[in-house]
Amino acid sequence: MKVLKFGGTSVGSPERMKKLLDIINPAERQIVVLSAVSGTTNNLVEIGQAYLAGEKVKASALIANLKTKYEKFIQELFAKPEYLDAGKEVIDYHFGLLSNLANEEFTTIEDKIILAQGELLSTTLYYVYLQEIGVPSVLLPALDFMKTDEDGEPVIDYMAEHIAPLLDQYPDNKLFITQGYICRNSFGEIDNLRRGGSDYTASLIGAAIRSEEVQIWTDIDGMHNNDPRIVKGTKPISHLSFDEAAELAYFGAKILHPQSVFPAQKYKIPVRLLNTMEPSAPGTLISASSDRSEIKSIAAKDNITAIKIHSSRMLLAYGFLRRVFEVFERYKTPIDMITTSEVAVSVTIDDTTFLGDITRELNVFGSVEIDVNQTIVCVVGDFSSETHGYAARVLEAVKHIPLRMISYGGSSYNISILVKTADKVETLRSLHSRLF
Ligand code: ASP
Ligand code: MG
Repeated sequence: MKVLKFGGTSVGSPERMKKLLDIINPAERQIVVLSAVSGTTNNLVEIGQAYLAGEKVKASALIANLKTKYEKFIQELFAKPEYLDAGKEVIDYHFGLLSNLANEEFTTIEDKIILAQGELLSTTLYYVYLQEIGVPSVLLPALDFMKTDEDGEPVIDYMAEHIAPLLDQYPDNKLFITQGYICRNSFGEIDNLRRGGSDYTASLIGAAIRSEEVQIWTDIDGMHNNDPRIVKGTKPISHLSFDEAAELAYFGAKILHPQSVFPAQKYKIPVRLLNTMEPSAPGTLISASSDRSEIKSIAAKDNITAIKIHSSRMLLAYGFLRRVFEVFERYKTPIDMITTSEVAVSVTIDDTTFLGDITRELNVFGSVEIDVNQTIVCVVGDFSSETHGYAARVLEAVKHIPLRMISYGGSSYNISILVKTADKVETLRSLHSRLF
Protein backbone atom coordinates (compact mmCIF):
# COMPACT_ATOMS: atom_id res chain seq x y z
CA MET A 1 0.00 0.00 0.00
CA LYS A 2 1.45 3.35 -1.03
CA VAL A 3 1.32 6.65 0.83
CA LEU A 4 0.93 9.79 -1.30
CA LYS A 5 1.42 13.23 0.23
CA PHE A 6 0.28 16.46 -1.43
CA GLY A 7 1.57 19.81 -0.18
CA GLY A 8 -0.21 23.12 0.30
CA THR A 9 0.16 24.32 -3.29
CA SER A 10 -1.07 20.99 -4.67
CA VAL A 11 -4.38 21.62 -2.87
CA GLY A 12 -3.98 25.41 -3.06
CA SER A 13 -6.94 26.10 -5.33
CA PRO A 14 -10.16 24.25 -6.21
CA GLU A 15 -8.71 23.62 -9.64
CA ARG A 16 -5.54 22.07 -8.23
CA MET A 17 -7.56 20.01 -5.78
CA LYS A 18 -9.66 18.58 -8.62
CA LYS A 19 -6.50 17.74 -10.56
CA LEU A 20 -5.26 15.43 -7.80
CA LEU A 21 -7.24 12.68 -9.47
CA ASP A 22 -4.90 12.90 -12.46
CA ILE A 23 -2.32 11.46 -10.08
CA ILE A 24 -4.29 9.45 -7.53
CA ASN A 25 -5.56 6.19 -8.95
CA PRO A 26 -8.75 5.53 -6.94
CA ALA A 27 -8.64 1.86 -7.89
CA GLU A 28 -5.39 1.29 -5.97
CA ARG A 29 -5.46 0.85 -2.18
CA GLN A 30 -3.51 3.80 -0.77
CA ILE A 31 -3.35 6.51 1.89
CA VAL A 32 -3.39 10.13 0.72
CA VAL A 33 -1.98 12.70 3.15
CA LEU A 34 -2.97 16.32 2.57
CA SER A 35 -1.47 19.58 3.84
CA ALA A 36 -3.57 22.63 4.54
CA VAL A 37 -4.43 24.85 1.56
CA SER A 38 -1.32 27.01 0.97
CA GLY A 39 -1.27 30.13 3.12
CA THR A 40 -3.80 28.76 5.61
CA THR A 41 -1.34 27.64 8.29
CA ASN A 42 0.36 31.06 8.17
CA ASN A 43 -3.05 32.68 8.66
CA LEU A 44 -3.82 30.35 11.55
CA VAL A 45 -0.49 31.25 13.16
CA GLU A 46 -1.52 34.92 13.00
CA ILE A 47 -4.93 34.18 14.50
CA GLY A 48 -3.29 32.31 17.37
CA GLN A 49 -0.84 35.17 17.95
CA ALA A 50 -3.69 37.68 18.07
CA TYR A 51 -5.55 35.56 20.64
CA LEU A 52 -2.38 35.06 22.69
CA ALA A 53 -1.89 38.83 22.74
CA GLY A 54 -5.49 39.29 23.89
CA GLU A 55 -6.37 41.10 20.65
CA LYS A 56 -9.78 39.55 20.11
CA VAL A 57 -10.97 42.13 17.58
CA LYS A 58 -7.92 41.52 15.43
CA ALA A 59 -8.39 37.73 15.75
CA SER A 60 -11.99 37.98 14.68
CA ALA A 61 -11.06 40.12 11.63
CA LEU A 62 -8.41 37.58 10.62
CA ILE A 63 -10.88 34.73 11.03
CA ALA A 64 -13.49 36.53 8.90
CA ASN A 65 -10.90 37.15 6.20
CA LEU A 66 -9.84 33.53 6.03
CA LYS A 67 -13.45 32.36 6.06
CA THR A 68 -14.20 34.54 3.03
CA LYS A 69 -11.37 32.78 1.16
CA TYR A 70 -12.89 29.39 1.94
CA GLU A 71 -16.37 30.51 0.96
CA LYS A 72 -14.97 31.39 -2.44
CA PHE A 73 -13.02 28.15 -2.55
CA ILE A 74 -16.08 25.94 -2.12
CA GLN A 75 -18.07 27.94 -4.67
CA GLU A 76 -15.55 26.74 -7.26
CA LEU A 77 -14.98 23.29 -5.80
CA PHE A 78 -18.56 22.05 -5.76
CA ALA A 79 -21.05 21.99 -8.62
CA LYS A 80 -24.21 20.59 -7.01
CA PRO A 81 -26.17 22.64 -4.44
CA GLU A 82 -26.35 19.83 -1.88
CA TYR A 83 -22.57 19.41 -1.92
CA LEU A 84 -22.06 23.15 -1.73
CA ASP A 85 -24.28 23.07 1.36
CA ALA A 86 -22.23 20.24 2.82
CA GLY A 87 -19.07 22.29 2.11
CA LYS A 88 -20.63 25.29 3.86
CA GLU A 89 -21.37 23.15 6.91
CA VAL A 90 -17.72 22.04 7.04
CA ILE A 91 -16.54 25.63 6.89
CA ASP A 92 -19.07 26.88 9.44
CA TYR A 93 -18.03 24.17 11.85
CA HIS A 94 -14.30 24.92 11.71
CA PHE A 95 -14.63 28.71 11.65
CA GLY A 96 -17.22 28.56 14.43
CA LEU A 97 -14.67 26.70 16.50
CA LEU A 98 -12.03 29.38 15.77
CA SER A 99 -14.42 32.19 16.77
CA ASN A 100 -15.62 30.45 19.93
CA LEU A 101 -12.07 30.38 21.29
CA ALA A 102 -12.61 34.08 22.06
CA ASN A 103 -14.76 32.95 25.00
CA GLU A 104 -12.11 30.69 26.48
CA GLU A 105 -8.94 31.14 28.40
CA PHE A 106 -6.30 31.08 25.69
CA THR A 107 -3.16 28.99 26.19
CA THR A 108 -0.78 27.12 23.91
CA ILE A 109 -3.26 24.23 24.01
CA GLU A 110 -5.89 26.36 22.23
CA ASP A 111 -3.20 27.69 19.93
CA LYS A 112 -2.46 24.17 18.70
CA ILE A 113 -6.15 23.50 18.20
CA ILE A 114 -6.19 26.52 15.89
CA LEU A 115 -3.17 25.28 13.92
CA ALA A 116 -4.89 21.93 13.35
CA GLN A 117 -7.87 23.42 11.53
CA GLY A 118 -6.03 23.88 8.20
CA GLU A 119 -5.47 20.18 7.54
CA LEU A 120 -8.90 19.29 8.95
CA LEU A 121 -10.48 21.71 6.48
CA SER A 122 -8.53 20.62 3.38
CA THR A 123 -9.10 16.91 3.95
CA THR A 124 -12.78 17.20 4.79
CA LEU A 125 -13.49 19.42 1.80
CA TYR A 126 -11.62 17.03 -0.47
CA TYR A 127 -13.54 14.09 0.99
CA VAL A 128 -16.86 15.83 0.29
CA TYR A 129 -15.66 16.68 -3.22
CA LEU A 130 -14.88 12.99 -3.87
CA GLN A 131 -18.41 12.16 -2.74
CA GLU A 132 -19.83 14.69 -5.18
CA ILE A 133 -18.02 13.15 -8.11
CA GLY A 134 -18.82 9.62 -6.95
CA VAL A 135 -15.34 8.43 -5.99
CA PRO A 136 -15.58 6.33 -2.81
CA SER A 137 -13.08 7.23 -0.11
CA VAL A 138 -12.60 7.01 3.65
CA LEU A 139 -11.54 9.95 5.82
CA LEU A 140 -9.08 8.69 8.45
CA PRO A 141 -8.78 11.03 11.46
CA ALA A 142 -5.03 11.55 11.99
CA LEU A 143 -5.78 12.51 15.60
CA ASP A 144 -6.82 8.89 16.21
CA PHE A 145 -3.40 7.42 15.37
CA MET A 146 -0.68 10.09 14.98
CA LYS A 147 1.05 10.31 18.36
CA THR A 148 4.09 11.92 19.96
CA ASP A 149 5.71 11.06 23.31
CA GLU A 150 6.83 13.28 26.24
CA ASP A 151 9.81 14.50 24.17
CA GLY A 152 7.64 15.36 21.18
CA GLU A 153 9.01 12.34 19.30
CA PRO A 154 6.56 10.39 17.12
CA VAL A 155 5.72 6.89 18.38
CA ILE A 156 5.65 4.65 15.31
CA ASP A 157 4.56 1.51 17.21
CA TYR A 158 1.50 3.34 18.56
CA MET A 159 0.67 4.52 15.05
CA ALA A 160 1.04 1.02 13.64
CA GLU A 161 -1.24 -0.41 16.34
CA HIS A 162 -3.94 2.20 15.82
CA ILE A 163 -3.95 2.62 12.08
CA ALA A 164 -4.20 -1.09 11.22
CA PRO A 165 -7.66 -1.64 12.81
CA LEU A 166 -8.93 1.50 11.08
CA LEU A 167 -7.83 0.19 7.71
CA ASP A 168 -9.22 -3.27 8.52
CA GLN A 169 -12.66 -1.73 9.04
CA TYR A 170 -12.73 -0.97 5.31
CA PRO A 171 -11.43 -4.07 3.51
CA ASP A 172 -13.14 -3.09 0.25
CA ASN A 173 -12.22 0.59 0.21
CA LYS A 174 -9.23 1.74 -1.78
CA LEU A 175 -8.75 5.41 -1.15
CA PHE A 176 -8.00 6.69 2.36
CA ILE A 177 -7.57 10.42 3.02
CA THR A 178 -5.87 11.80 6.12
CA GLN A 179 -4.39 14.97 7.58
CA GLY A 180 -0.70 15.78 7.51
CA TYR A 181 1.04 17.72 10.28
CA ILE A 182 -1.43 17.12 13.14
CA CYS A 183 -1.16 14.60 15.98
CA ARG A 184 -1.85 14.10 19.66
CA ASN A 185 0.88 14.55 22.24
CA SER A 186 1.56 12.47 25.35
CA PHE A 187 -1.22 14.31 27.24
CA GLY A 188 -3.70 13.44 24.48
CA GLU A 189 -3.90 17.09 23.46
CA ILE A 190 -4.04 18.18 19.83
CA ASP A 191 -0.51 19.00 18.70
CA ASN A 192 1.51 19.08 15.50
CA LEU A 193 4.78 17.90 13.96
CA ARG A 194 6.00 21.50 13.45
CA ARG A 195 5.90 23.58 10.29
CA GLY A 196 6.28 21.60 7.10
CA GLY A 197 5.39 18.47 9.07
CA SER A 198 3.08 16.87 6.52
CA ASP A 199 6.05 15.22 4.82
CA TYR A 200 6.93 13.78 8.19
CA THR A 201 3.37 12.45 8.60
CA ALA A 202 3.62 10.67 5.25
CA SER A 203 6.90 9.05 6.12
CA LEU A 204 5.69 8.05 9.61
CA ILE A 205 2.55 6.46 8.19
CA GLY A 206 4.72 4.80 5.55
CA ALA A 207 6.82 3.32 8.34
CA ALA A 208 3.79 2.38 10.48
CA ILE A 209 2.10 0.40 7.70
CA ARG A 210 5.41 -0.78 6.17
CA SER A 211 4.35 0.88 2.97
CA GLU A 212 5.85 -0.20 -0.35
CA GLU A 213 6.56 3.46 -1.21
CA VAL A 214 5.99 6.99 0.03
CA GLN A 215 5.44 9.66 -2.61
CA ILE A 216 5.88 13.34 -1.74
CA TRP A 217 4.15 15.43 -4.41
CA THR A 218 5.25 19.08 -4.57
CA ASP A 219 5.67 21.70 -7.25
CA ILE A 220 9.24 20.99 -8.34
CA ASP A 221 10.61 18.00 -10.16
CA GLY A 222 12.63 16.53 -7.31
CA MET A 223 15.66 17.60 -5.34
CA HIS A 224 18.05 19.59 -7.49
CA ASN A 225 21.82 19.30 -7.54
CA ASN A 226 22.20 22.98 -6.67
CA ASP A 227 20.02 25.99 -5.83
CA PRO A 228 18.03 26.71 -9.03
CA ARG A 229 17.44 30.31 -7.92
CA ILE A 230 21.18 30.98 -7.96
CA VAL A 231 22.79 28.59 -10.41
CA LYS A 232 21.72 28.06 -14.01
CA GLY A 233 21.36 24.56 -15.42
CA THR A 234 20.66 22.66 -12.20
CA LYS A 235 19.19 19.19 -12.61
CA PRO A 236 16.98 16.97 -10.49
CA ILE A 237 18.98 14.25 -8.74
CA SER A 238 17.60 10.91 -9.84
CA HIS A 239 18.70 8.81 -6.88
CA LEU A 240 19.86 9.55 -3.33
CA SER A 241 20.60 7.34 -0.35
CA PHE A 242 18.73 8.10 2.89
CA ASP A 243 21.92 9.55 4.41
CA GLU A 244 22.54 11.83 1.45
CA ALA A 245 18.91 12.97 1.49
CA ALA A 246 19.05 13.71 5.21
CA GLU A 247 22.14 15.91 4.75
CA LEU A 248 20.52 17.77 1.86
CA ALA A 249 17.11 18.17 3.46
CA TYR A 250 18.80 19.82 6.40
CA PHE A 251 21.06 22.05 4.33
CA GLY A 252 18.73 24.30 2.49
CA ALA A 253 16.86 22.01 0.10
CA LYS A 254 13.42 23.15 1.28
CA ILE A 255 11.60 20.46 -0.66
CA LEU A 256 11.64 17.86 2.10
CA HIS A 257 11.13 18.16 5.88
CA PRO A 258 14.54 16.98 7.22
CA GLN A 259 13.19 14.62 9.88
CA SER A 260 10.98 12.81 7.41
CA VAL A 261 13.94 10.84 6.10
CA PHE A 262 14.48 8.90 9.34
CA PRO A 263 11.30 6.81 9.68
CA ALA A 264 11.60 5.81 6.02
CA GLN A 265 15.24 4.96 6.50
CA LYS A 266 14.58 2.85 9.59
CA TYR A 267 12.07 0.65 7.78
CA LYS A 268 13.74 0.94 4.35
CA ILE A 269 10.68 2.50 2.71
CA PRO A 270 11.60 4.16 -0.61
CA VAL A 271 10.57 7.82 -0.83
CA ARG A 272 9.91 9.50 -4.17
CA LEU A 273 9.82 13.28 -4.62
CA LEU A 274 7.51 14.06 -7.50
CA ASN A 275 6.06 17.10 -9.28
CA THR A 276 2.29 17.62 -9.41
CA MET A 277 2.71 19.93 -12.40
CA GLU A 278 4.69 17.33 -14.32
CA PRO A 279 3.48 13.94 -13.05
CA SER A 280 5.41 11.85 -15.56
CA ALA A 281 8.83 13.36 -14.69
CA PRO A 282 10.98 10.81 -12.81
CA GLY A 283 11.66 13.09 -9.79
CA THR A 284 14.05 11.95 -7.07
CA LEU A 285 14.11 8.48 -5.54
CA ILE A 286 15.47 8.21 -2.00
CA SER A 287 16.26 4.65 -0.96
CA ALA A 288 18.68 2.48 0.95
CA SER A 289 21.03 2.03 -1.97
CA SER A 290 22.93 4.74 -3.77
CA ASP A 291 25.02 5.24 -6.86
CA ARG A 292 28.46 5.05 -5.33
CA SER A 293 31.37 7.39 -5.82
CA GLU A 294 29.52 10.34 -7.12
CA ILE A 295 29.09 13.95 -6.15
CA LYS A 296 25.34 14.37 -5.91
CA SER A 297 24.50 17.88 -4.92
CA ILE A 298 25.52 21.23 -3.52
CA ALA A 299 23.36 23.04 -0.96
CA ALA A 300 23.73 26.14 1.17
CA LYS A 301 22.40 27.35 4.49
CA ASP A 302 22.46 31.09 5.32
CA ASN A 303 22.24 33.08 8.55
CA ILE A 304 25.00 31.10 10.17
CA THR A 305 27.07 32.51 13.03
CA ALA A 306 30.57 31.18 13.68
CA ILE A 307 31.99 31.19 17.21
CA LYS A 308 35.68 30.63 17.89
CA ILE A 309 36.90 29.90 21.41
CA HIS A 310 40.65 30.30 21.78
CA SER A 311 42.17 28.95 24.94
CA SER A 312 45.64 27.80 25.91
CA ARG A 313 43.90 25.67 28.55
CA MET A 314 42.69 23.44 25.76
CA LEU A 315 46.23 22.26 25.05
CA LEU A 316 46.62 18.64 26.17
CA ALA A 317 43.49 18.95 28.32
CA TYR A 318 40.54 16.61 28.43
CA GLY A 319 36.99 17.59 29.25
CA PHE A 320 37.42 21.00 27.64
CA LEU A 321 35.13 20.33 24.68
CA ARG A 322 32.52 18.86 26.97
CA ARG A 323 32.40 22.07 28.99
CA VAL A 324 32.14 24.12 25.81
CA PHE A 325 29.30 21.95 24.48
CA GLU A 326 27.48 22.08 27.80
CA VAL A 327 27.12 25.83 27.38
CA PHE A 328 25.26 25.27 24.11
CA GLU A 329 23.21 22.52 25.68
CA ARG A 330 22.12 24.78 28.56
CA TYR A 331 20.79 27.26 26.02
CA LYS A 332 19.22 24.53 23.82
CA THR A 333 21.20 25.80 20.86
CA PRO A 334 22.13 23.20 18.23
CA ILE A 335 25.63 23.25 16.76
CA ASP A 336 25.98 22.57 13.02
CA MET A 337 29.68 22.52 12.16
CA ILE A 338 32.72 22.00 14.37
CA THR A 339 36.44 22.29 13.71
CA THR A 340 39.19 22.09 16.28
CA SER A 341 42.88 22.79 16.64
CA GLU A 342 45.05 22.26 19.72
CA VAL A 343 44.30 25.69 21.14
CA ALA A 344 40.99 26.69 19.60
CA VAL A 345 37.63 25.33 18.59
CA SER A 346 35.18 26.84 16.12
CA VAL A 347 31.52 25.98 15.96
CA THR A 348 28.58 27.33 14.01
CA ILE A 349 24.99 27.92 15.10
CA ASP A 350 21.96 29.24 13.27
CA ASP A 351 19.75 30.03 16.26
CA THR A 352 21.22 33.16 17.86
CA THR A 353 18.47 33.71 20.47
CA PHE A 354 20.92 33.13 23.32
CA LEU A 355 24.14 34.28 21.64
CA GLY A 356 24.72 36.94 24.32
CA ASP A 357 24.46 34.46 27.19
CA ILE A 358 26.48 31.84 25.35
CA THR A 359 29.28 34.32 24.63
CA ARG A 360 29.33 35.49 28.26
CA GLU A 361 29.71 31.91 29.52
CA LEU A 362 32.29 30.94 26.91
CA ASN A 363 34.41 33.97 27.87
CA VAL A 364 35.28 32.09 31.05
CA PHE A 365 37.25 29.55 28.96
CA GLY A 366 39.24 31.98 26.84
CA SER A 367 38.83 34.62 24.16
CA VAL A 368 35.71 34.40 22.01
CA GLU A 369 35.37 35.66 18.44
CA ILE A 370 32.01 35.90 16.67
CA ASP A 371 31.51 36.09 12.89
CA VAL A 372 27.98 36.74 11.66
CA ASN A 373 26.54 36.54 8.12
CA GLN A 374 28.18 33.25 7.28
CA THR A 375 26.92 30.52 4.96
CA ILE A 376 27.53 26.79 5.15
CA VAL A 377 28.00 25.30 1.71
CA CYS A 378 27.67 21.57 1.76
CA VAL A 379 28.71 19.16 -0.98
CA VAL A 380 26.89 15.85 -0.68
CA GLY A 381 27.88 12.57 -2.28
CA ASP A 382 29.68 9.35 -1.58
CA PHE A 383 33.02 10.27 -0.04
CA SER A 384 33.74 6.93 1.56
CA SER A 385 37.37 6.08 2.14
CA GLU A 386 37.68 3.91 -0.99
CA THR A 387 37.03 6.90 -3.19
CA HIS A 388 39.61 9.64 -3.47
CA GLY A 389 40.26 13.02 -4.94
CA TYR A 390 36.85 14.51 -4.19
CA ALA A 391 37.97 16.73 -1.32
CA ALA A 392 40.75 18.09 -3.52
CA ARG A 393 38.27 18.81 -6.32
CA VAL A 394 35.99 20.68 -3.94
CA LEU A 395 38.80 22.77 -2.49
CA GLU A 396 40.30 23.42 -5.94
CA ALA A 397 36.93 24.83 -7.05
CA VAL A 398 36.87 27.34 -4.21
CA LYS A 399 40.56 28.20 -4.05
CA HIS A 400 39.85 31.88 -4.81
CA ILE A 401 37.33 32.20 -1.97
CA PRO A 402 38.31 32.82 1.68
CA LEU A 403 37.16 29.85 3.78
CA ARG A 404 36.34 30.29 7.44
CA MET A 405 35.92 26.57 8.27
CA ILE A 406 36.20 23.20 6.49
CA SER A 407 34.55 20.02 7.74
CA TYR A 408 35.31 16.65 6.20
CA GLY A 409 35.04 13.13 7.59
CA GLY A 410 32.15 13.71 9.97
CA SER A 411 30.16 11.40 7.76
CA SER A 412 31.14 9.83 4.44
CA TYR A 413 28.48 11.84 2.71
CA ASN A 414 29.45 15.45 3.00
CA ILE A 415 32.13 18.09 2.82
CA SER A 416 31.06 21.38 4.33
CA ILE A 417 32.75 24.74 4.08
CA LEU A 418 31.88 27.98 5.80
CA VAL A 419 32.12 31.16 3.73
CA LYS A 420 30.95 34.74 4.10
CA THR A 421 27.39 35.02 2.83
CA ALA A 422 28.68 37.68 0.43
CA ASP A 423 30.75 34.91 -1.25
CA LYS A 424 27.92 32.38 -1.44
CA VAL A 425 26.80 32.94 -5.02
CA GLU A 426 30.35 32.70 -6.33
CA THR A 427 30.96 29.59 -4.20
CA LEU A 428 27.86 27.79 -5.51
CA ARG A 429 28.55 28.71 -9.12
CA SER A 430 32.19 27.81 -9.02
CA LEU A 431 31.52 24.45 -7.37
CA HIS A 432 28.74 23.74 -9.86
CA SER A 433 30.85 24.40 -12.92
CA ARG A 434 33.84 22.45 -11.57
CA LEU A 435 32.02 19.45 -10.09
CA PHE A 436 29.23 18.76 -12.60
N1 ASP B 1 0.34 23.03 6.88
C1 ASP B 1 1.57 22.84 7.64
C2 ASP B 1 2.52 23.99 7.33
O1 ASP B 1 2.19 24.87 6.54
C3 ASP B 1 2.22 21.54 7.38
C4 ASP B 1 2.68 21.30 5.96
O2 ASP B 1 2.19 21.93 5.04
O3 ASP B 1 3.56 20.45 5.76
O4 ASP B 1 3.56 24.05 7.91
MG1 MG C 1 6.42 21.30 2.68
